[in-house]
Amino acid sequence: MEQIWAPWRMQYIRMEKPEGCILCDKPGEKKDTDNFILYRGKKNFVMLNTFPYNPGHLLIIPYRHVPGLDDLTKEEAAEHAEIIKKCIRILKNAFNPTGFNIGVNMGRVAGAGIADHVHSHIVPRWQGDTNFMPVVGCARVIPEAVADTYERLKDKF
Ligand SMILES: [Zn+2]
Repeated sequence: MEQIWAPWRMQYIRMEKPEGCILCDKPGEKKDTDNFILYRGKKNFVMLNTFPYNPGHLLIIPYRHVPGLDDLTKEEAAEHAEIIKKCIRILKNAFNPTGFNIGVNMGRVAGAGIADHVHSHIVPRWQGDTNFMPVVGCARVIPEAVADTYERLKDKF
């Protein structure tokens, strides 16, 4: 697999991280458009990654603050998996990707940015996408690109 070149993520890596847990705070704020929350299930919600590896990079997040997939109840895990399927279908229709990276980074050593609140990543992939994002990839453009992705996806859920 080719590595995705995502230089704007340096801004995320360098920036001050807020106190507490943003994955707990965001759904409580009731500002779903500002927070790029696309869908709320009973046990999990879907949010766009503000620092995406690719357009359409989604996060599937249980409301409950637990570190591992193995901490999810049967009900939470079942809905989590159902929502991943739903997201794949929606991304296929909206963006026509030719592949996906889907996964969970558990623990900082494994690369988790928010290590103590488990979440799944879905990153749509296209042939040649490793060369595509630098074209739109200056840090200033990314928030607009994420807002645009939100507009394109929010009615599909
Ligand atoms: Zn949390």
